[in-house]
Amino acid sequence: MSDKSEPTVTNPAATTPATATATATARPETLAVHTPHLDIPDSRPLGVPLHQNHVFVFDSADKLAEAFGKPDSFLYSRMGNPTVRALEASVARLEGGADAQSYASGMGAINGVLLALLGTGSHIVAQRCLYGGTYAVLTDLAERWGVEVSYVSGTDPEEVRAALRPETRLLYLETIANPTTRVSDLPALIAVAREAGVPTCVDNTFASPLLCRPIELGADIVVHSATKYLAGHADVLGGVAVFKDAELHRRVRHHAVEQGAVTDPFAAWLTLRGMQTLPLRIERQSANAAELAARFAAHPAVAAVRHPSLASHPDHELAARLLPRGGGGVVSIDLAGGREAGRVFVEAVRLASLSVSLGDVKTLVMHPGSTSHRQLDETALAAAGIAPGTVRLSVGIEHVEDLWADLGRALDLALAKTA
Ligand code: PLP
Repeated sequence: MSDKSEPTVTNPAATTPATATATATARPETLAVHTPHLDIPDSRPLGVPLHQNHVFVFDSADKLAEAFGKPDSFLYSRMGNPTVRALEASVARLEGGADAQSYASGMGAINGVLLALLGTGSHIVAQRCLYGGTYAVLTDLAERWGVEVSYVSGTDPEEVRAALRPETRLLYLETIANPTTRVSDLPALIAVAREAGVPTCVDNTFASPLLCRPIELGADIVVHSATKYLAGHADVLGGVAVFKDAELHRRVRHHAVEQGAVTDPFAAWLTLRGMQTLPLRIERQSANAAELAARFAAHPAVAAVRHPSLASHPDHELAARLLPRGGGGVVSIDLAGGREAGRVFVEAVRLASLSVSLGDVKTLVMHPGSTSHRQLDETALAAAGIAPGTVRLSVGIEHVEDLWADLGRALDLALAKTA
């Protein structure tokens, strides 16, 4: 193309004087690439701005060189992004930690912590009833990377004490186990590990920092699948690890930057947007779950109900202490009609959705034995407290009477078809 034939266009909206000069007489091909950045002199965005770009521009070579050595500089989004840092600061503050590292998913966060802290010859003590993906990672670490794993019930401090070894690098727990809703005695178990100088990591996905803050109970690391309650609207995948101690954060962050499983800024932005309503959502989800749990307990199709709010729950008293604001939105039920009743029930719901995730504003139902815990064989499944007819419900924020009309009808059907 001939330069002479092109009109020149000025760019009055360029932010910096240098850009304004460079584009003052530029051609359309150049202007199309150098989009103007508008300064907003007298106001600022109400929410956290989305910095979707992966790379940042510097005016000075010295400043760019300096940025490589500073942990909180923004030069390349795998190493740090302002929207992602806002998410990390926000979750760290809610959990009462020194700092946080976010990841592309909950599994990213769990892997990030485990791989940063464990090596060949390390030993880890973990609770037996774990999220299936976490169990799979630990199995892989044991089979291929020479990490030894001891499983404990998650309720007995003496069992943890007996499992600890000189090479134990981590105690790994979940606040509320999936799908049994067993509550870990965090203060007692963490105290035993702490005495031995072993840090504890707690997966707090099911409780959220609104119901439980494990760092206040002695934990060193808290991990979340932000995909669930933190984001809350089934539109984003994300994970966050929060650290009590800045030094531990620095170690894991360094590894995360190398590993590259970091959060996309848009995902961070969606998570931050969702988190603004977390207190309202989790309060309603917990209240709805407690009400439904009580109604399930009285239905003839149901052999057992698990929710920490029920007096029949094995950890009811512990939950009253550790989760005083509510037992969370997850309820699990064992259907008297076994596997077939579970199948009929999850297919009969109409308002609730048959879906594997949890923590959404909508109510979701699923059958763990054939989905999230399919990696577990029958013995491991039974050890994890999951029966063939166990159905997990992640209760949403709908009106509880509408939910009961749907779920009660599905239970009636499951009873009629399997009686
Ligand atoms: N931790 C718990 C307790 C979970 O339930 C899940 C997913 O269901 C994860 C971690 C993994 O999270 P993600 O799916 O975001 O990788």
